[in-house]
Amino acid sequence: AYVITSLCAGTRDGACLQVCPKDCIHDAGAQFVIDPEECIDCGACAVACPVGAVFDEADLPAEHRAAPDLNRAFFR
Ligand code: SF4
Repeated sequence: AYVITSLCAGTRDGACLQVCPKDCIHDAGAQFVIDPEECIDCGACAVACPVGAVFDEADLPAEHRAAPDLNRAFFR
């Protein structure tokens, strides 16, 4: 799944919400998060994000390795 990192916080542009075909991006307060059960890995949100906050979990930079758990935690 794709994940939104803490780079989203402070900007919260919301462009990702407009392009997600599954409506699986949700407002978690400080930042937006992706529901990993619904994401179809299309990558549209990563392209749309103006601050590059969204990554394929497989390509996640080491400093953002906590992001998948933070995204998942919102939906449990
Ligand atoms: Fe939505 Fe596609 Fe981003 Fe998954 S990768 S959150 S389906 S826009």
